[in-house]
Amino acid sequence: MSDWKQRTQLVHGGIRRSQYNEVSEAIFLTQGFVYDTAESAEARFVETGPDEFIYARYGNPTVSMFEQRIALLEGAEDAFATASGMAAVNGALMSLVKAGDHVVSAKALFGSCLHILENILANLGVEVTFVDGPNLEEWRAAVRENTKVCFFESMSNPTLEVIDIAGVSEIAHSVGAMVVVDNVFSTPVFSNAIAQGADVVVYSATKHIDGQGRALGGVILGTEEYIRGPLETYMKHTGGSLSPFNAWVMLKGLETIDLRVRAQAASALKIAEALSGNDALLRMIYPGLKDHPQNALVNAQLDGVGGTVLSIDIKGGKEAAFKFLNALTIPVISNNLGDAKSIATHPATTTHQRLSDEQKDDLGIAPGLVRFSVGLEDVDDLIQDLTAALATSQA
Ligand SMILES: *Cc1c(COP(=O)(O)O)cnc(C)c1O
Repeated sequence: MSDWKQRTQLVHGGIRRSQYNEVSEAIFLTQGFVYDTAESAEARFVETGPDEFIYARYGNPTVSMFEQRIALLEGAEDAFATASGMAAVNGALMSLVKAGDHVVSAKALFGSCLHILENILANLGVEVTFVDGPNLEEWRAAVRENTKVCFFESMSNPTLEVIDIAGVSEIAHSVGAMVVVDNVFSTPVFSNAIAQGADVVVYSATKHIDGQGRALGGVILGTEEYIRGPLETYMKHTGGSLSPFNAWVMLKGLETIDLRVRAQAASALKIAEALSGNDALLRMIYPGLKDHPQNALVNAQLDGVGGTVLSIDIKGGKEAAFKFLNALTIPVISNNLGDAKSIATHPATTTHQRLSDEQKDDLGIAPGLVRFSVGLEDVDDLIQDLTAALATSQA
């Protein structure tokens, strides 16, 4: 199975059939499993084999198929599926640190990730140093002997800065720290994070893996030693496991993720090219554009693909951004991403509302900034709609 190429793994990887030999993966909607004898129950609690289960919080056949399929895709030894992306970020961090430890984190983070690093870890006696993610010198200056984790989003939200996974990994490993990468914006299709040095990769499966805006989920990938050791121990006792039904939605999402995400990224590049230089824009941010300041890193780390999201800074601040959003007829105003439907978000008043004006300034979250998650609609329809809405924004 591990010799198969990506597209084959996404359709067949990890499948295990029941006695009925069903074609489509079965949903095992059961909390528990029956043991033939008291002796076999005892044996299973001593050692649980790969096709054996005890309780759905620990593992379940449908969830396990999803874990194996995504591990094959990511080139990871093992995976643990979680109830949401945040359960994955929380589990990855909590399983690695204790009071007195030190963590270095990029400062441009998804709001809930920032809450864990800024508030929860501090309350537990873990010190966190925030750095400017793309600046390797800051990572080098921040790591210490007691640094246990370096954490970052490989492509930041919403300004799409790309962080050098190999560069940060080398610095982290020089002090024995683990590298935990939140890889949502890079997507599992374009990621080579483990090969580039990451020890643990985390996804919100809610985004591209489902890809149709239906279910919450997440996954943590790493070595078998880590996943079946400290991570599984933390997750199975704290209750953040993925439900079998949501695992089935995610398994079905993986069958089409390569086709969907490649089409979305191709459309994102076309839109970025078509709108670059539009009079209504102060800035077009898309990592796949040749003139993006980090295009060389995008080539090295992501095979030159800039992802499925672009951000635009519209002239005229919040007022113009709102006129733009309200004039769109195809994309919806919402805050998910990676969906088949294009989604426009105004970060300053929604996802990043909680930040102070200084923090917003520092992170480049301008009042006119709109994040645009490119869906599966016809790209020419999208370009026409976006161009008309940009004209309305300036009227
Ligand atoms: C959405 C997202 C999360 C959280 O995922 P949920 O599934 O909503 O819990 C974490 N990190 C990033 C970068 C995200 O985009």
